[in-house]
Amino acid sequence: MRVLRRGDSGVDVADVNTMLHALGLLRAASDPTAATAFTVETEHAILAFQQQRGLRADGLVERATYLALRGAQYHLGSRPLTFVFSAPANGDDVLALQQQLNGLGYDPGRCDGVFGSRTLNALRRFQRDGGLDPDGVCGAETVRALHRLVRVPAAGGRPLLLREQEKLRKSGRRLRGKRIVIDPGHGGPDTGAVHGHTTEAELMWDLARRLEGHMVAVGMDALLSRGANNSPSVARRTKLANDADADLLLSLHCAHHSSPHARGVASFHFGNGDVTTTTAGELLARLVQRELVARTAQPDCGTHPKTWDILRHCRCTALHLELGYLSNPADRALLEDSTFRDQVAEGILVAVKRLYVLDAMDQPMTGTFTVDDILRHESA
Ligand SMILES: [Zn+2]
Repeated sequence: MRVLRRGDSGVDVADVNTMLHALGLLRAASDPTAATAFTVETEHAILAFQQQRGLRADGLVERATYLALRGAQYHLGSRPLTFVFSAPANGDDVLALQQQLNGLGYDPGRCDGVFGSRTLNALRRFQRDGGLDPDGVCGAETVRALHRLVRVPAAGGRPLLLREQEKLRKSGRRLRGKRIVIDPGHGGPDTGAVHGHTTEAELMWDLARRLEGHMVAVGMDALLSRGANNSPSVARRTKLANDADADLLLSLHCAHHSSPHARGVASFHFGNGDVTTTTAGELLARLVQRELVARTAQPDCGTHPKTWDILRHCRCTALHLELGYLSNPADRALLEDSTFRDQVAEGILVAVKRLYVLDAMDQPMTGTFTVDDILRHESA
C-alpha cells in the first residue's frame, strides 16, 4: 500500500475516512469529494488514533497504522476468530477475547490483539470447561458463553470456579488422598522480606516443611513447589499445581512494611471484588483466618479477593497467606519462633479439613479441632 498523507485523495483515503468515522474520530464528510480527501481533519483524527494506540504519531497512514485502523473496526462477535498460522487474526475483537479469557482465569498469553497459539489453547480450555465444542473457533456460541459468564456474577468472574466448586463438592470429606501444593514464597536468591539475618524465603521454607509433615501424617499427598534454595517463577509454580491436578495450592508468605506498626495475618483468594457468591477460595481464606487468629492471637487483617497470577492461573482453589510482618518486632518474634510456625501449620491443616467437612457433611464440625481430632475423624 502507498503511504497516505494530507493532500492525498482516492478510494484508499475514502476507506481511511470511513474507518475513522466508525471509530468516532472523524465527522461524516459533507460531500463526496471531501469523503475521498485526506484533509486536516483526517490528519488530526489519525494523530489522535495513533496516540490512543501507542503508534508513532506522525499523521501518516502507513502499514502499521492502516492495520491498526482495520483491527479497530472489529468487535467481539463481528467475525469468527480462530488461529491461522500463516496470517494470525489481528484486531480489537481478538484483544477483547484475550482480555475476557484472561479475566476468567485462562492464560491467552500477552493481550496484544493477535490471535496466536496460546490464545487458541486458552480458548479451547474455556470451551471445554464451558461444555462447548473445543474447536478453537470463537464464533457466535462462544461469544454468547463469554458474555454470559462475564455478566453473571455468580460465576465469580471465572468459570474455573464452577469446576473448582464442583471438584470440592465431589471430593468428599476425607483429607486422605487429596493433593495439595505447598508453595513457600520466594527462595534462593529471591529472599522476599528480610530483617537482619531472617529471610521470608527461609522462614516459609521451614513452615512449608512443617505443614508438609502434618499433611502427610493425615494421608494427604503434599507437594512442595520449590526446593530449599531455588525460586521457580510463578508460572512454574502454578503449572506444577495444574499438571498435578492438585486440590489446593497454598502460597506462604510474610510481609514487610515501611511502618513498624503494621502487623497481623491476612489471607488472599482469587476474586475481582464483584463476586456475590462465596467461592471455595474465599471460604478457605475465612477458615484459615479464623484458625490462625484463634490459635496465635495474631491480629486479624482479614480476607481479600485478588487477581494475582498465583491465584488466577491455578485451576484449583488457591490461597496466598501473609503470616505476619517481619518489619514488626512482635510479629518477627513470633515468626522466628518454631512453636508459632507449628501453630500456623496446624491451624492451616485444620482450616483445610474444615473446608471439606463443611462442604460435604450435613453437620459441620464445631469447636476447637486438633490434628489428633483430624486423625480420628479420618480413620472413623
Ligand atoms: Zn512474599
